[in-house]
Amino acid sequence: MLEQETLRETSGRPNLPEGRETREWIEKDRRYVWHHIQPYVASRDPMVVVKGDGAWVEDLEGNRYLDAMSGLWCVNLGYSQKALAEAAYQQLLEMPYFPLTQSHLPAIRLSEKLNEWLGGDYRVFYSNSGSEANEVAFKIARQYHAQRGEPTRWKILSRYRAYHGNSAGALAATGQAQRKYRYEPLAPGFVHVPPPYCYRCPFGQTHGACGIECASAIEQVINWEEPKTVAAVIMEPTITGGGVIAPPPEYLGRVREICDKYGVLLIIDEVICGFGRSGRRFGHQNYGVQPDIVTMAKGITSAYLPLSATAVREELFEAFKEDEPYAHFRHVNTFGGNATACALAVKTLELMDEREYVKRAEELGERLREALEPLAAHPNVGDLRFFGFMAGIELVADKATKEPAPSDFVGKVIAGCKRRGVLIGKNSDTVPRFNNVLTISPPFVVTDEEVRLIADVLRKALEEAGEG
Ligand code: PLP
Repeated sequence: MLEQETLRETSGRPNLPEGRETREWIEKDRRYVWHHIQPYVASRDPMVVVKGDGAWVEDLEGNRYLDAMSGLWCVNLGYSQKALAEAAYQQLLEMPYFPLTQSHLPAIRLSEKLNEWLGGDYRVFYSNSGSEANEVAFKIARQYHAQRGEPTRWKILSRYRAYHGNSAGALAATGQAQRKYRYEPLAPGFVHVPPPYCYRCPFGQTHGACGIECASAIEQVINWEEPKTVAAVIMEPTITGGGVIAPPPEYLGRVREICDKYGVLLIIDEVICGFGRSGRRFGHQNYGVQPDIVTMAKGITSAYLPLSATAVREELFEAFKEDEPYAHFRHVNTFGGNATACALAVKTLELMDEREYVKRAEELGERLREALEPLAAHPNVGDLRFFGFMAGIELVADKATKEPAPSDFVGKVIAGCKRRGVLIGKNSDTVPRFNNVLTISPPFVVTDEEVRLIADVLRKALEEAGEG
């Protein structure tokens, strides 16, 4: 069994020096640090990560883990790209910061590069996080319609199960009610539609004979809400954090047609799917659609620094050029488009081009599929889903009824993987009955062998959890 000891022996990488006061750091963490989204458990020690190397991280005690989730779906190029650190360092020395009320070279370079990657004509607005990128998209969509003489178009449609961020608008767009519980009321004007979730089709249909009712439902909701009140639809190319729910191939094209028919803007959230994760530069490029607005974050800097972007089709930007005091986009944030973060993002994209990481991600997606497919036979694996280099493994208590596996079972599998040195995740819904999808989204620097290791460890952890 690949337990920690074995991993340490086989890694060939140095452990931490002796004599660190591990316990002291952990106690300090437990005293002072408020952890993101984790329930407080008095007896639980945090995993304090001190080092990263390729796809591996090492904790205070010298335990090494293959990070099969790239942090939070973001460290796409792994933990030790020196060229990224150097790009940031050089920019820090040269000119660390200037607000984007004016401009700087890294933002200009990055905007040009993003246009090349998007294959379209986009104007780019920068922020710091995916949530902010989505907030910016919502404001731009509403203002665009208002300035084109349709000020009543302010509703945003999004899908159940999707996650779009933590701020008032982005959380309102999020289709996971349990995330909002005790924080409401949030921003008004957000309406949800059912997701294209073939394994548990909300319409009781089977793909092939369904007429893509999940897309038609969007048209229905636009009509029910009154088209003149709908500003935009936001969606990820594939629902990621909500459980890797990939749509039928014809879905996104159909959504684009519906948006065009009703004058509704299509916002594509590429916060996770972007920058190679889908096996293309952007997730929507798998479906041949051109979004009106693209939001991105995470992989844009491989998470080495915070940065996000909202790219808006140039035709839309026309509406913001008018000579009228309220016509411009009246939005600013101090750190958005930070020069150092932009320089690092340019380097990230250059490295991805030079080393063909997008192509590699596509290949790795195939390796992951081959490695995980045998798990479909396991009695607790209800559905295996893939999109580019990510996977969702939906666990059930019973394959026939599709009853979700209980959360303690899911927790045991994740813990079993961790004990064997592999970090995997689960979907982001926060209550047990929707909390049954394991997620895998490793850095693009993993080897084929490491992909097989992830699958092997997961198989063992599943078997062990099944034994009780
Ligand atoms: N959109 C999607 C699809 C995400 O997965 C996330 C975060 O996980 C966000 C938006 C929000 O990004 P951030 O956490 O950077 O605000």
